[in-house]
Amino acid sequence: MDPAALATLQAQLTGEVVLPNSDPYDDLRQLSNGRYDRHPALIVCPSNTQDVALAVQFAQAYQLPLALRSGGHSAIGASVNDAGMTLDLRRLNQVEIDLATHTVQVGSGATVGLVSQALQEHGLAVPFGAISSVGVGGITTGGGFGWLMRKYGLTIDNLVAAEIVTADGVIRHVDANTDPDLFWAIRGGGGNFGVVTRFTYQAHAIGTMVYSGPLVITLDNAVAALQALREFAPTIPDELTLWATFAALPPMPPFPPHLHGQAVLLLEGCYVGDLERGAQVLAPLRAAVSAELDLMGPMPYMVRMTMIDGMAHPGFHHEATNTFLHSLPDTAIETLVAQVAAMTTPLIAVQVAPIGAAVARVLPDATAFAHRDAAYLLWLPLAWTPDSSAADAARHTRWMVDTLMAMQPYSTGGAYGNALGGEDADAVQRAYPPTTYARLQTIKQSYDPANVFQGYPPILPA
Ligand SMILES: Cc1cc2nc3c(=O)[nH]c(=O)nc-3n(C[C@H](O)[C@H](O)[C@H](O)COP(=O)(O)OP(=O)(O)OC[C@H]3O[C@@H](n4cnc5c(N)ncnc54)[C@H](O)[C@@H]3O)c2cc1C
Repeated sequence: MDPAALATLQAQLTGEVVLPNSDPYDDLRQLSNGRYDRHPALIVCPSNTQDVALAVQFAQAYQLPLALRSGGHSAIGASVNDAGMTLDLRRLNQVEIDLATHTVQVGSGATVGLVSQALQEHGLAVPFGAISSVGVGGITTGGGFGWLMRKYGLTIDNLVAAEIVTADGVIRHVDANTDPDLFWAIRGGGGNFGVVTRFTYQAHAIGTMVYSGPLVITLDNAVAALQALREFAPTIPDELTLWATFAALPPMPPFPPHLHGQAVLLLEGCYVGDLERGAQVLAPLRAAVSAELDLMGPMPYMVRMTMIDGMAHPGFHHEATNTFLHSLPDTAIETLVAQVAAMTTPLIAVQVAPIGAAVARVLPDATAFAHRDAAYLLWLPLAWTPDSSAADAARHTRWMVDTLMAMQPYSTGGAYGNALGGEDADAVQRAYPPTTYARLQTIKQSYDPANVFQGYPPILPA
């Protein structure tokens, strides 16, 4: 890079330009997925929206590929690049709550944990995901499945406005009335349209407690438990969101020693609302399954938000895929449980979540996330230690692909773009139905014809 140009950029910015061999460079380029060890030509840490606009223009002037980093949890490590500019948005993490309207303005580099903590001081919440270190930048532009989804929808369903820097360097304020196409595209179209610098969400008064926690079920009872979940899910109110997760238990209390390291089924509910009512609603599920351990009960929402953070394994190597299911017949359940019994690493999770309710009430063409009518999300995130051999890594990935293939008869063919990984060659087709993709391409052509913003799954200009 031309040192004079870099010096000029640094002089114009309130934030910072970080170059290779400088102190924070190696820390800043770390990703949650340790599989990717990338070396950008420069990392720009903007302090405000004007800095972002300058950086976007600089990257184009010097033909530098541009990567956007918020929380750094991209499944394919897309938020740091090689030999380009990485725009590290983490300094843009302001949270401003309007208590009169229950709206919250959030800098796009904040984590969902930071925002949730600030909102909980007032008994408020925005529906985000299940791991607190995920960034609002990636989860919001992709969708946002989490503990409150059946009551309040996906994260994108609660986005009321955004500030975005487009490829022309213009700072735009978009909502349902201003640049409505762009506002539509950033609700599910990923990081393909510009740098969102600020999100405005509608928050909800949920209080500070929820009724949640897992039923711990051993694998020999898992088929019956998933059958019970399938029968129970259509009867539940919107206040209850359910996730069924197969995972190996960590060697720590409250889990008894004989279950340490064992793959089990964690049947979890999160009821938002009156806690006694939550217990009543969950009673039939509790009665129907044979649980080794029942850890359901009232708990602070922030405990729920952070309870499975340990499953994120930052720095480990990760892969993921997912699909939506139209149904969960006995054959699907038996297939899943057999695959879990053959897991190649204890760091695999298999997650099944009934959707419906508020997610399904949004029309498929209302946002760029269109898979509104799916009955279940099946998510296969896996991890392995960085010192694993290439052969072991290939074995784990093979297991994931085999599991996905085995579940094809029950798949809608659709997938959640944010949870697709490097093995998903057909990511675009699975994430976007043809009409959605065609509209995204047209919007891409209007706002980013040179494809400066290369999100994942990629959207190419029409
Ligand atoms: C451990 C783990 C747990 C997860 N749990 C959930 C969950 O419960 N629910 C759920 O829905 N998803 C979940 N995800 C998926 C997650 O939503 C995506 O990986 C998301 O992209 C991560 O966002 P990030 O900001 O942390 O990632 P980053 O890696 O920083 O960003 C990913 C991509 O998002 C785009 N992007 C980021 N910031 C911006 C911005 N400001 N403007 C425009 N584009 C931007 C860019 O294209 C970037 O490459 C999880 C992922 C992991 C690894």
